[in-house]
Amino acid sequence: MRQRLIAGNWKMNKTPTEAERFIRAFLAADRGADGVETVLLPPFIGLELAGRLLRKTGVALGGQDLHFEEKGAFTGEISAEMLIACGCRYVLVGHSERRTLFHEDDGLLNRKLNAALATGLSPILCVGETLAEHREGQVREKVTAQLCADLDGIEPAQIASVVIAYEPIWAIGTGETASPEEAEGAIRMIRGWFSRAYDEEIAKNLRILYGGSVNPENAAAIVAQPDIDGALVGGASLSPETFARIVVQAG
Ligand code: PEP
Repeated sequence: MRQRLIAGNWKMNKTPTEAERFIRAFLAADRGADGVETVLLPPFIGLELAGRLLRKTGVALGGQDLHFEEKGAFTGEISAEMLIACGCRYVLVGHSERRTLFHEDDGLLNRKLNAALATGLSPILCVGETLAEHREGQVREKVTAQLCADLDGIEPAQIASVVIAYEPIWAIGTGETASPEEAEGAIRMIRGWFSRAYDEEIAKNLRILYGGSVNPENAAAIVAQPDIDGALVGGASLSPETFARIVVQAG
């Protein structure tokens, strides 16, 4: 049985003071029953404080990115070990904004995945197609190419710690969502890829999220799909009340 997961990616939003205000309000809000795992992904500067506030609350913490080296002369970067020291259990790898705006390619993402897994972090690997690729019916080609390259050399035993987020780029921050059926089709295809590349059991246990303009109004229909195990939420994760409503809808 796969536990549902709702992750809130704050991107470059919220100072530590704002993060603290959010977390206190979110912890006080109605978040439904305990069945849904919830993860907050603040900017690096808020991680330590967030880690302290979230300790023993059942709400998990994650980083938005990491460097693949353990330490050294990499100005501006953060290591897996530093994320763990702040209390992180998860880390995003390959968000489309990192791929596009910061030119992160699959080779680099493969090294980041290896670094996360070697340190005990669970990577949330983001994959998804552009609007042009979507229109040209290239969802399968694009997503499987990303999976093949990003997961190259990742052992079957390591996949238990991996979460996949299918995020069609045209749906991120645009207010346009894939229909629940469309999202289910892509996510079922991803699960099928895992059963061929790894095995049936691994594919069955893998958590695959949908991301792209999820909000309290569309969350329930999306996570009701049989292969969709939760959501990666951007804009709607910035308000504690709105994000709590999404968690309730996923329960
Ligand atoms: C995201 O950034 O991963 C995302 C899905 O953003 P939004 O929910 O704002 O579309």
